[in-house]
Amino acid sequence: MLEIWIFRLLFLVFVGIFVAQMAARLRLIFRAKNNFSIDHPGARIARFISEVVFQSKVIAGRPVAGVAHALVFWGFVMFAGFTAAMFLRGLAGPQSALNVTGTRWFHAYSLAVVPFAIAVLAGITCLLIRRVVLRPEGLGTHVSGESVVIGFFIAALMVTFLLDFRLVDGTTAYRVNWWAHVLIILAFLVLIPDSKHLHLALSPITVFLKSPLLGTVPNLDFEKEEVGLETVKDLPGKQVLDAFTCVECGRCQDNCPAYATGKLLNPKTIILQNEDALLAGKLGAKLSEVYDRGVLWQCTTCGACENECPVGIEHLPDIIGARRGLVSNGEAAEFLGPVYNNLERRGNIWGFTYDQRQKFLGSAALETFNAARHEYLIWLGCAGAFDADFQKSLRSLFDILRAKRISFGVLEKERCNGDPAKRTGNEYLFQELARENLEELRTAGAKKILTSCPHCLKTLGHDYRAFGFEAQVVHSAVFVADLMKDIRLSPTEVVTYHDPCYLGRYAGHAEEPRDLLARFGATVRDPVRSGHNPFCCGAGGGLLFEEHEEGKRISQQRFEQLQATGAPTVVTACPFCAIMLKGAQASANATTEFVDLMTFVDGRLKSAITPDDGDGRASRDDPRTQTPGEAMRRAEGAAGAERGL
Ligand code: SF4
Ligand code: SF4
Repeated sequence: MLEIWIFRLLFLVFVGIFVAQMAARLRLIFRAKNNFSIDHPGARIARFISEVVFQSKVIAGRPVAGVAHALVFWGFVMFAGFTAAMFLRGLAGPQSALNVTGTRWFHAYSLAVVPFAIAVLAGITCLLIRRVVLRPEGLGTHVSGESVVIGFFIAALMVTFLLDFRLVDGTTAYRVNWWAHVLIILAFLVLIPDSKHLHLALSPITVFLKSPLLGTVPNLDFEKEEVGLETVKDLPGKQVLDAFTCVECGRCQDNCPAYATGKLLNPKTIILQNEDALLAGKLGAKLSEVYDRGVLWQCTTCGACENECPVGIEHLPDIIGARRGLVSNGEAAEFLGPVYNNLERRGNIWGFTYDQRQKFLGSAALETFNAARHEYLIWLGCAGAFDADFQKSLRSLFDILRAKRISFGVLEKERCNGDPAKRTGNEYLFQELARENLEELRTAGAKKILTSCPHCLKTLGHDYRAFGFEAQVVHSAVFVADLMKDIRLSPTEVVTYHDPCYLGRYAGHAEEPRDLLARFGATVRDPVRSGHNPFCCGAGGGLLFEEHEEGKRISQQRFEQLQATGAPTVVTACPFCAIMLKGAQASANATTEFVDLMTFVDGRLKSAITPDDGDGRASRDDPRTQTPGEAMRRAEGAAGAERGL
């Protein structure tokens, strides 16, 4: 009987400590602004099943460590019933009817758990070796003593569980083993809240609560006098919860282009600095002082950090939220001053006058969109209106569309979509630009929008939805890939393709551009970090305008990765990636060629049916002498012939 009362007392003390520690954190979460959302429940449940139940993200990012972690996780889930029964036995006493440990079904259940216990032992051994011996950079510079202790606790739990089968109930050895088992669990309980192992309890919640759309940063409501995040107490509930959930795995750090190029910004550090400030009660501290100096302006908003985080942490609402706080106090980074000025005065990032856009509209014979005559509205964006290289790509798109007899027009007046303002925290300016554009779009009655700029795709397709704008917005790579699905030309050249973050990662379109390239005769050699997890070009988040990057330029790093493929041509699908990478190429004095995806497709289409006759004169099949429709029909014929049709 004494043993039971000792256990009850210990149970109360340990559980009490656990509850007190958790209460401190819960108070911080619930005093914060409620920004929890469960919209799109289907998508959230699907993610929960994939990322929590099947541990897909943990395994995909780091297969060996991920499988080891998954074994521990699945084992723990299976183990929960055994632990609960052991505690019940201790609290109620071995003779109590509540003690089920002597029943036949409990024995059967325990036997079923044995393979899981062995799997947990194998998994935790791997993780301990990785942490103590291999010590990858992402886990930090020193070995965490607490993690090692918890690792040994987990191993000891499995050993005591397995020993349970060898010992006879009622013997001293059995009781010693039982005490060891339950005491380890109680010790575990008090260690958890103050350690990264709190993710065991919180990560299923954060994964479910994470926005289904990457990089969701809700608009500010100026009527409620919202200005962004200035101090620690402004962090909303989900961001506070995130701060307590970080498992310090370093996946965000490993994937961050700013960190990889020697900048001070480390997304993991941002989250841990939030946690430290919250627990230290520094609620009045300015976020820009909590974080390392200048880091808020080093983020390209590429989204790699939150996309790779296995526990549902969202970094961008923190970073952009804190940028908003700075902008609202007139403390925006210096390099943004001229950009904001250009956007305010001229409605575009470069400050050009709109007669230049008009000239392009005239030379490309573009009609003003009319919903009665045109199916698609082409959104040009700042680059489409003013960047000569990108205009070449758009002309290719127009040729393709005209050849397919697709009707399209453009807005007479178009402002920057506001992406640079939104991602740099100038929410007021973003909403001003959005309001003007939405007025134009609604008046025009556009229902289907085509754009070649992934940033316009994200802003018009997602951010404008918050204003009730529901038009379908498609990137030209996706649209043309579908339009040309019947054409396949023989492979003639090797290229590498750079996935724009806002297309490959944000919009999930990594396959369509490759498919298009392959069908138009390119053999694609992927660089490191491609597809859905590309390495950024360095332009996003307003950094297109930052000339004094700390450390190595992100664009330089990406250019070297593309060069390392050995492909002589780099294909891009974003005007800003092209600007950044061409800049890096010029600095490196390299001969690599750059071509936009649309220009590549259009060029291959025309050259496929216009073999060079060697005398330099335009042949009967020369694209310069053909209408686009003729070129397309001939290409389709050629493609059919190649397929033996
Ligand atoms: S969004 Fe990209 S650049 Fe910014 S912190 Fe995350 S990984 Fe780094
Ligand atoms: S924020 Fe996510 S990815 Fe980064 S260290 Fe924490 S748990 Fe890992």
